[in-house]
Parts: sequence; C-alpha cells; structure tokens
Amino acid sequence: MAHKVTLIPGDGIGPEISQAARRVIDASGVAIDWEVVEAGEALIEEHGTPLPPYVLESIKKNGIALKGPLTTPIGKGFRSVNVTLRQELDLYANVRPARSLPGITSRYDNVNLVVVRENTEDLYAGIEHNVGKDAAESIKIITREASERICRHAFDLARSQGRKKVTAVHKANIMKLSDGLFLDCARRIAEEYADIEFEDMIVDAMCMKLVQSPDNYDVLVLPNLYGDIVSDLCAGLVGGLGVAPGANIGLKTAVFEPVHGSAPKHAGKNKVNPLAILLSGILMLQHLEEHQAADSIMHAVTAVLNEKQKVTYDLGGNASTSEMADAIIEKLPR
Ligand code: NAD
Repeated sequence: MAHKVTLIPGDGIGPEISQAARRVIDASGVAIDWEVVEAGEALIEEHGTPLPPYVLESIKKNGIALKGPLTTPIGKGFRSVNVTLRQELDLYANVRPARSLPGITSRYDNVNLVVVRENTEDLYAGIEHNVGKDAAESIKIITREASERICRHAFDLARSQGRKKVTAVHKANIMKLSDGLFLDCARRIAEEYADIEFEDMIVDAMCMKLVQSPDNYDVLVLPNLYGDIVSDLCAGLVGGLGVAPGANIGLKTAVFEPVHGSAPKHAGKNKVNPLAILLSGILMLQHLEEHQAADSIMHAVTAVLNEKQKVTYDLGGNASTSEMADAIIEKLPR
C-alpha cells in the first residue's frame, strides 16, 4: 500500500527543489501518494496567514511530511512558520546529519556526525518585548522535560546507529541556570547509557574544535539556538547548505526538510542544488522503513557525485536543478 505523505513545496527555491526530489523518489519505485499542500508567503493575501490550518491538518492526518523551505521576514510580520510548525506538532528533535560525500570538495573527507537539536524552546520560543524604545528583552526558556527528552533522543539515536559518543554542547559557565539545567539533564541521562561515551563542551570551544578536527565527534546534542548555528557550521564542513538534510521528529509526526532556507535570490532559476531536500527525502524513506528505495537513491546520488558531470553550481558544475535530478534518475536501478 502507498504511503500517504504531505508535500509542502515552500517558498523561493522550494517548488523547484521539491519537484526534483519528488521525481527522484517516485522513480525509485517506492509507492508514495503525495498530498501537496501550499504554505508560505504567497498565501498571506488570500488566507491572512502563511500557515493555513489545512497544512497542520494534513501533516497530523498523514503523520509525515516532506517540506521545502519557508520564508520568514526578518524583524517584522508573521512569526516564523517553521518554528510554529515545530511547536504545534511538538516536533521536539531536529536531527541533522553531516556526512562527507564522495566527489564533493570540502575541507575534510572524513566527517560523519549527527547534530541533535532541541526544537521547541530556548531563545527560539521567540518570547521577547521592547523595553522602552531603545532596548529589547528576549527570554530563554530551558526546561527539564524538554532537555531530558532531547538528550534521551540523542543517546537512543547513537545506540540505534551504532555510534560511540554523545557530546552535550552548552554555555553553562555563563548561563549557569538555563544551560546549567540542560547540562545537568544531559549528565543524568548519560548515566542510563553506560555503553555510550559522554562528554560535554562549551559551545564556543565546540565551534573551534569542529573546524579543526570534526572526525573527533559523533553525536552532538544542543539546545535550540546553538543547534541552529552549529548545524550550519557542520553543513559547511561537508560541502555547504546545498547538501545538508534534516528531520524534525515528534512522537506522532515527522517533518523532513533541508537545513537551508528559501534562498530568494536564486528562486525560479532552476539553478540550486536539489540534494539537501533529496537527502531529507532519504531520511524520510528510512523513517518509513523503505530501506531499499533509500539505498537505491543514495547509490544513484553517489554515482552522480563521483562523475561530477551533472552537478549544480555550488558543487563546481553547471547542471540545473532538474538536470541533476534527471542524472540521478538515470542511475537508479531499472
Ligand atoms: P538560505 O539558506 O535560504 O540561503 C543562503 C545561501 O545559501 C543562498 O543564497 C545560497 O547561496 C545558498 N544555498 C541555500 N540553499 C541552497 C541550495 N539548495 N543549493 C545551493 N545553494 C544554496 O538562507 P537565508 O538567505 O538566510 O534565508 C532565506 C529565507 O529562508 C529567510 O526568510 C529565512 O528565514 C528562511 N529560512 C527557512 C528555513 C526553513 O524553512 N526551514 C531555514 C532557514 C532559513
């Protein structure tokens, strides 16, 4: 029976990359019944919101979604649609693997780590207000419940993927109460997983060490804001945002999306790399236990990257988004 999956094309480059990913996934032979729902900037005029209720209803009904990026105007207007989705669906774990891929020239060829980012609280809760007209205050929320849940997720992920070490990342030397609580939770949960090595690291030192020797790290677990920043750093270690996939996991639903945003300056040019959303699609197929399709697509991607003939500009080529997708489809088993 076909899996029913919500597909949100998204803003900016979203429609072109999600179309490319959909074509490749369909060509792999896996049976997916896509329910396409629109969200984003274009809907504000008609619906008064970039996130009409039918979007959440569709994801709740199907339990799974592949999502293109959605634009959030800086400094004004609507609250981030992405943050709203994660909070409304309680997608508490943002999982972002960073793995060196063949054929991609980057600083390292031996990176294989996973960033596990808490996805529901911290400064990302967006609770802020003006204090007079020359100051603003933002509230950082860290709770035991959310911290223990994300740390447990990180250790479970390490165990299920045969990984050896979890590093909790924080700034508890300065934010003694909030990050101190996160660190305390990480230490407590670590005691339940004697088979997995545990260490903690201050976020600034973590950034330096990741740039110097990323192969020393395996699973990183972080509060929301540090996770957002460090995962882009990790994307930079393996070839950039064009190849960085992500998953937002909750108890009942999961939404798979690239780490990158809507890149408005490239929109409509059929130019950007479809891999970040396609690799997110592979994570989705693994979640659906469609391992054969996931493996076939990964082999096809690897073949195209190794040949370096049909890759997009960010990987040093001049293929378009759709040409790269066609090349991957060509490599799929018939
Ligand atoms: P961005 O990730 O959209 O783009 C930054 C740059 O990265 C681009 O200009 C481009 O050079 C490169 N890039 C991104 N995706 C690429 C791809 N697939 N292939 C090749 N190069 C790629 O970041 P931004 O410009 O800061 O954000 C634009 C909008 O996206 C903002 O409104 C932001 O809020 C939103 N955003 C959404 C999400 C999401 O939907 N989850 C995530 C991040 C940013």
